[in-house]
Amino acid sequence: MLGTAWPSVGEVSELITNVGELVTSAPDGEPGPAGAGPFAVIGDAALVIEDGRVAWTGPASRAPAADTVTDCGGRAVLPGFVDSHAHLMFAGERCHEFAARMAGQPYQAGGIRATVAATRAATDAELLANASGLAQEMLRQGTTTLECKSGYGLTVTDERRAVALAATLTGEVTFLGAHVVPPEYAADPAGYVDLVTGPMLAACAPYARWVDVFCERGAFGEEESRAVITAGQAAGLAARVHANQLGHGPGVRLAVELGAASADHCTYLDDADVAALAGGRTVATLLPGVEFSTRHPYPDARRLLGAGVTVALATDCNPGSCFTTSMAWCVALAVREMGMTVAEAVWAATAGGARALLRTDVGHLGVGARADLVLLDAPSHTYLAYRPGVPLVAAVWRDGELAAGARP
Ligand SMILES: [Zn+2]
Repeated sequence: MLGTAWPSVGEVSELITNVGELVTSAPDGEPGPAGAGPFAVIGDAALVIEDGRVAWTGPASRAPAADTVTDCGGRAVLPGFVDSHAHLMFAGERCHEFAARMAGQPYQAGGIRATVAATRAATDAELLANASGLAQEMLRQGTTTLECKSGYGLTVTDERRAVALAATLTGEVTFLGAHVVPPEYAADPAGYVDLVTGPMLAACAPYARWVDVFCERGAFGEEESRAVITAGQAAGLAARVHANQLGHGPGVRLAVELGAASADHCTYLDDADVAALAGGRTVATLLPGVEFSTRHPYPDARRLLGAGVTVALATDCNPGSCFTTSMAWCVALAVREMGMTVAEAVWAATAGGARALLRTDVGHLGVGARADLVLLDAPSHTYLAYRPGVPLVAAVWRDGELAAGARP
């Protein structure tokens, strides 16, 4: 039979219509939170997908014809979540540590070493199965772009396999050899920094887009962090920094100084940190699931937004300090616990995450954007915070194709 091979899937257009509320956050929309970007909503809307991209958005009554039509029944559609901070390449779990914390024991960066031991003992297949299971869990909850870090191998061989396996899941792979100093280097942390910035970086850079460092008491200090980031940048990687999670420190200012795309956590900030973020282009990525799971105080999102800082939200999915994959829950926490408006939080979980990854093709539904969208079983994006903990994602499109849930 001839003829069944075309038109190819990419040439078929899909009209998504009867959308009660379409969040586009399109670049030509109204100014959004703190001037960080537009949070644009269209009522009674429609959207056309063509070649995996958004081809048109506007009122449903003016929608053009398309090859197929999907009727959303008045429900809300928003851009797929962009989770710009996740640690998925690990083995084992630490639920007993969580229970102990809830019984009063403090969180310490050293807990990472327990996961390092389990990760080194795992096979490639076990690591990939765990990570891809979590990536699927993210997708079902509306996350269409995810970042994935190494950092639980901490040998040249184990870090290289972590970034190589991560690269099969996402293009946003981060080399985090400087997560913590492994036990075998406890007496020689400088030697470990030499390893990270030398042979480990050389082995991992071909698989990674990003370099990251845990700049924190108990992990890496200012000069060690600077050495890690600048070596990564010299190897062609862009920078992001774990900064100011457990206490005040130099991480945020270092991230801004070195031009990092994002400073992540930003829980303990002084005025100079906020001023540095406001004066630079580094996004403040807030990870409220961590504060929930460690009983630390939440970051002061209002202070950052008030200073004009671009804020992103991400999960920090990891087995120690926050084992969630739910961006919707992070939105709810940000609204309830960090004083963000619903619009600010949804923007931060979509367009903000894209900014933190230096991406302009995702995190919004402007014409030309990648057709990554989420259909909610709800009439408004507000339900993400209004009905916390409820699975509201009905369907997810990624690259213009239905990727999770069911087409209505
Ligand atoms: Zn992290």
